Amino acid sequence: MLWPPKPEITVRDVLDACTKWLGTQDWGAALLVRLPELIAEEERYQAAGDAGELLALLLSEADSQKEDSDREHFHATYETALVERAPGRKLYDALMAAAVHDMCPLCGYQPVSQIDHHAPKATFPLLALTPLNLVPACGPCNQGKSNKLATEAAKEAFHPYFDNLGDERWLFAEVHKSDDGAAAAYSARPPAHWPEAKIQRLQYHFSSHKLGRRYSNATSSRLANRRRRDIRLLASAGPEELQASIGEEAASAEEANPNSFDTALLYGLAACDWYLNGGMADS
Ligand SMILES: [Zn+2]
Repeated sequence: MLWPPKPEITVRDVLDACTKWLGTQDWGAALLVRLPELIAEEERYQAAGDAGELLALLLSEADSQKEDSDREHFHATYETALVERAPGRKLYDALMAAAVHDMCPLCGYQPVSQIDHHAPKATFPLLALTPLNLVPACGPCNQGKSNKLATEAAKEAFHPYFDNLGDERWLFAEVHKSDDGAAAAYSARPPAHWPEAKIQRLQYHFSSHKLGRRYSNATSSRLANRRRRDIRLLASAGPEELQASIGEEAASAEEANPNSFDTALLYGLAACDWYLNGGMADS
């Protein structure tokens, strides 16, 4: 997964951008008074994230934050001043624009269309406006995500600003014959030297975001696009040349993103005897 850098925008910038709108609300001035608390919370979040202890921090704060007296006001400020009003929207759009190639960092293949609260805003109103907690995402990844915080380390959601998955391959595809021609089955197989907790989190990420099914669904158009080219190359140059050509594409895709579904699919095609020997031509 290609992850955006940590935002440079701070919660102070967000409140500054929302100040004019807050001035139109009875409770706006009272909310602005809470800025020092939000800054302190932002600092705790950053320190815990950098130390790999974000889940522990969030679990320790969940009960108190959920009961915050300004809970609804923080939500309204997010939903209206940040998402809909021009000064806030500028920051919201800047957070989305940080996504690499405009692609959702959580699935890597659908365009960014919204912002996901890593710590759900329903439970963590003091983080509803904190840029470090705001991650660009696609609709399916955001809507598919639970609004509840994981309580087990093995199910802790990855945080693109803090977790580093490195650049070794962990996404693999197996191409096989199907009723409509060729299809691919995807699996997450992290390097064995990863710590056990990270392996479990990746497996959970893969299943909870339904990545296997979503990548499989997106595969048929990729295969249709290349069918004629591969049939022609096979006819003119043979299966070894076809394999070398697809392998070169795979290496190029890997350089761009080692764990995109395109990279996995191309390596899967280059390893599939049925495909390389003309299976795609029968469909
Ligand atoms: Zn996504």
